[in-house]
Amino acid sequence: MKQLIIIPALLLLSFQQTLENPPASPVGKLPKNVILMIGDGMGLTQVTAGMYSSNKRLNLEKCTVTGLIKTHSARNIVTDSGAGATAFSCGCKTYNGAIGVCNDKKPCWTILEQAEKQGLATGLVTTSSITHATPASFIAHVPDRGDMQAIAAYFLQTDIDLFIGGGKKYFAERTADQRNLVQELTDKGYRVYDFSQKKLADLSPAADQPLVWFSANEEPPGVAGGRDYLPLATRIAPDFLQKRSENGFFLMIEGAQIDWAGHANNAPNTVREMLDFDDAIGEALRFAEKDGETLIVITADHETGGMALEQSRSPDTLDMTFQTKSHTASLVPVFAYGPGAELFGGVYDNTDIFQKMWDAFGFPPPVEIKK
Ligand code: MG
Ligand code: ZN
Repeated sequence: MKQLIIIPALLLLSFQQTLENPPASPVGKLPKNVILMIGDGMGLTQVTAGMYSSNKRLNLEKCTVTGLIKTHSARNIVTDSGAGATAFSCGCKTYNGAIGVCNDKKPCWTILEQAEKQGLATGLVTTSSITHATPASFIAHVPDRGDMQAIAAYFLQTDIDLFIGGGKKYFAERTADQRNLVQELTDKGYRVYDFSQKKLADLSPAADQPLVWFSANEEPPGVAGGRDYLPLATRIAPDFLQKRSENGFFLMIEGAQIDWAGHANNAPNTVREMLDFDDAIGEALRFAEKDGETLIVITADHETGGMALEQSRSPDTLDMTFQTKSHTASLVPVFAYGPGAELFGGVYDNTDIFQKMWDAFGFPPPVEIKK
């Protein structure tokens, strides 16, 4: 039977106030590059399920610092991916469905936009459409995550160096206006490819022009449906961005479909997507080990499915069960590696991920986040 915990309204209100952070431990060397990796829906149970389903240690176990974050949004204990990603990109708790806007619906300045302003190269990689809530929150400012065509137009308003993901139709087959954003990207100097013309493996992208690779017209398939580009994209992107700027780069990489497997209460797909994301983590860690100037932060926007691992009849196997088809409010893990990783230990708010990345980059204090 479900046990309900009633959260008093006052307590809910108090969640909205960010606690004063405990003083950070002294920071040594700061990173030149930050790779933020978001496992959408990746709670501790999803990580554990991947771990026990694998014959080897997960790549994320190489991280030297771990933390836990509180994922509630401004108005709800249970966040969606828009508010969850906007907490990371802008540092504000906002309402569910928001994309790069704070709770007052005003646009907020994102870490990607600041990185670009500081002369860093920037990139977004995902296994969903590139206009989906998680990547969108780093580049777009719309009050409603469903407005994919409006989100797509924001990719023309920045000088993002690389993006990889699905959703080509929001650029190419627009009903909101007559624009052809694929043409506009090309005119702006981008090399634009898609899955039907060239596999990512067949691209050897020169860094003299910015790059787009559309992995699907709408949403890319899952690992079970043959999708295999995330680890490869994660190998290509840091090298590419490093060549695009001497000042460093900011790159967000998302394993988007851990969440979708959770919504479907599909345990085998949860494991597949988790392990695919971990393969990508392996690629990012390899780059960071070699480079020595790259901070990797791996976290989740929320847990999905209320997943549990129970003993099955056989002593060495687990029954993976789900409590819900929705997201849950559990704390989610943070794993960090590289210079600045020490900032990410402890228990804190998802919005602090923004501040910690900002501090790790050594960016000047945000003067006015609204624009
Ligand atoms: Mg997502
Ligand atoms: Zn979800």
